[in-house]
Formats: sequence, structure tokens, C-alpha cells
Amino acid sequence: MTEVQLQEFKLEPDSELRFEVESKNEKVVLEVKSGYAELFGTELVKGKPYEFHTGAKVAVFTWHGCTVELRGRTEVSYVAKETPMVIYLNVHAALEQQRVAAEQENTRGPVTMIVGPGDVGKSTLTKILLNYAVRMGRRPIYVDLDIGQGHISVPGTIGALLVERPASIEEGFSQQAPLVYHFGHKSPSENQELYNTIVSRLAEVITERCENNKKAAASGVIINTCGWIKGPGYKVLTHAAQAFEVDVILVLDNERLYNELKRDMPKFVKVVYLPKSGGVVERSSTQRAEFRDTRIREYFYGKRTPYYPHSFDVKFSDLKIYKVGAPSLPDSCMPLGMRAEDALTKLVAVWPSAALQHRLLAVSFAAAPEDDVLHSNLAGFVCITAVDMERQTLTILSPQPRPLPNTVLLLSDLQYMDNH
Ligand code: ADP
Repeated sequence: MTEVQLQEFKLEPDSELRFEVESKNEKVVLEVKSGYAELFGTELVKGKPYEFHTGAKVAVFTWHGCTVELRGRTEVSYVAKETPMVIYLNVHAALEQQRVAAEQENTRGPVTMIVGPGDVGKSTLTKILLNYAVRMGRRPIYVDLDIGQGHISVPGTIGALLVERPASIEEGFSQQAPLVYHFGHKSPSENQELYNTIVSRLAEVITERCENNKKAAASGVIINTCGWIKGPGYKVLTHAAQAFEVDVILVLDNERLYNELKRDMPKFVKVVYLPKSGGVVERSSTQRAEFRDTRIREYFYGKRTPYYPHSFDVKFSDLKIYKVGAPSLPDSCMPLGMRAEDALTKLVAVWPSAALQHRLLAVSFAAAPEDDVLHSNLAGFVCITAVDMERQTLTILSPQPRPLPNTVLLLSDLQYMDNH
């Protein structure tokens, strides 16, 4: 049943109001009338209206009790008294102790990786722990290895951000100068070799940055991961754990994964089992696809603050487009000393064709294919909105005005239909 208009909720200490906005083009406004409340770790300002749009799945939690008002149509809205928030707060307190020790001893703070199947609240817990850390005056590094969702930049990438203030309720963490690496697919299974390569590279760069930023180093790193945890997915996770030299792994809602990690991780890695919140909502593959689409639209057009992207034509001959991964040959056909997997991280030139319409191109900082392209981070993305084979031009949607930087462009599998 769809509920309409104005609803008021009185929340007791340690409870949360959960709601979802489902109907198309719907808007729900949330306001805290009295008391204190937070949303996935970000404090809400009393009397300030916050807007939520279609697809939002939200929990307003209170440690001390509060009154909250919702205006608009919510598909679901209820108060839950059972939440794992106290357990999550204890995890934060334990990490905080390690940060204090790191600060005193001038060492690295805790590197924490959050793992579990899809839809158990990994991204949400990542956000809560980062927000709690930054509210204590820390400057943690947020790493997102979940290429299917792309919380930093767009889907099909992995990335990292230095978190200097709590996530804004409507716009998330401030996206200033993120470090982003190209993968180009929605799941690591499409090219594990490439995935592991860029994960190792990101880990390396973060270690270097921490050497130059004591505050960030002592604050530690929080890593969100993909929900692919079985078979090769498990290998990909353990590779990431090794690459980032994690100290703590938080396993959400999967005992098998917890036991496997307990068995396989070195003794100094603390593997901790955590329950998922009853509020976490499962998403269908259509909802995931819509979410990806929204992320890309927001990249070009902004969230609350609108962006005004540019559209212009570029000649085929002015572009250096590559994709990563040549078709792999059996080992017996490879030149001496090369493995079949090496082909998976090779750059292959792509000549434009009609098939490129709607595809995203990652704009690399690397100037030429001989430069270490996979190890270079990205300047940003453009989208091919039209291909004119006769005139041999592409129409490009770009956050920056023309010309495109004269660097390598990496073709992504991800598509975006620009009908703005
Ligand atoms: P995962 O990263 O494991 O796939 P998410 O953290 O993205 O899962 O959570 C899935 C969805 O559930 C998100 O839309 C999130 O906003 C929502 N969600 C998480 N925790 C709660 C909660 N306590 N109440 C309501 N919705 C929640």
C-alpha cells in the first residue's frame, strides 16, 4: 500500500525509521523536528529539509531519541527497534583505538576491508565507519573496489578518496581529486587479471600517499568490495586483502566466507563476523542497472548541484581509442616467456564504428599506449552520443569543453543513453 502526505514518527533511543521511495519521479522530504538523528553516520540538522528521490532506501537512526517528519509518498515506512548499530559502533571504537596507537607510534592506522555477498549493507557500513571516523577528526581513506556500483566515479572503475568531512546527505562524500582506475566491465569476472592488476596499483599508490600524509596514514583505510565471494570471486578478495595488507576484515552475514577467511588469512589479520541490518533492501538486477545509469547521469549532470556538460564533434583521426584485453590464445601459441593471461592486460587499438554509440570512454592521464596506461589514473569520462561514419566523426558528451585532452581513451563496456 502506498502511503501519502505527512507522517510523523517518534523514535525511541537506539531505533531507526526506515523508508523507501519507489514511485517514479517521486520526492520525499525528511525533517528532524526534535532530538538528534543521523543517516548512515551523517548527523542530520534539526529543522533542515532533506530531499530523497526515486530509488532511495533510507534509515534514520537515533542514539538518544527524536521526532522525525516525512512529507511525500513512501512505499514503505516503519520504525525498527532491532538494529546492529551498537555492534557497528563497537567496531568503530576498536578501530579508533588502533588509530590512537598508530598516531602515538607513528605507524599506519587500521586497514579495514568489508566483505560479504550482494545486498548485505557493505557500502552502507563503509559509509557509517568513514563518517564516524571523520566526525572524530580523522582523515580516513575510502577505497571502493565494487565496480558494479561505482560509488566513487562511475561503474566499471575502482577508486579512492581522502575523506575530510562527513558525507552530505544528498550528495555523498565530496568527490574532490579522487584516484580512479579503469576496468571497463560490471563484474571482476570479465577480466580477473586486469582487476587484480589495478587493485594492486591502487594499493601501491595509497601506500605512497600515506607516506606523505601522516594524518591519513594514522586514520587508516576502509575498503568496500564486490558481492562476488565464491570460487574465483574469493580469490579476487584474498588478492585485494594481500595487496592492501589489511589488518581487519569485517564479514557481513556469511558464515562460510567468514570461516574461509579465518582459515586462509595470516594470523595477524583480524577476521570479524557481523550481522547485517534487517533494513538492508535486496535489489533486483533491473534496480542495479537503474542505479548504474543514475550514477553515470550524475557524473555528467550532477546530483543536487547541476552540472552543464558540453557536446561536440571529434574526428576519428584525432582519437586514440584502446580497449584492454586481447583475445587470449592457449599457452602453446604464445611467444616464449609470455603467459596466456598477459594478453588480458594488453592494449588493443579500436577503430570507431557505429557499435561505439552510447559507450563510455575513460580519459587516461597517459599520453600514449606505450606509457604505463593501466597504472595511470583517470582524468575523467566522456560518452559517445553519436557516430557519423560518413563524416568520420564522433559526437562526445564531456564534462569539459573541447578539445579532448590528447591522451589515451579507454573503451568501457558500460553504456549511457543521453536523453537529458
Ligand atoms: P551492499 O553494498 O552490500 O550491496 P548496500 O549497503 O548498498 O549493500 O545496501 C543495499 C540497500 O539497502 C541500499 O539502498 C541502502 O541504502 C539500503 N539500506 C542499508 N541499510 C539500511 C537500513 N538499515 N534501512 C533501510 N535501508 C537500508
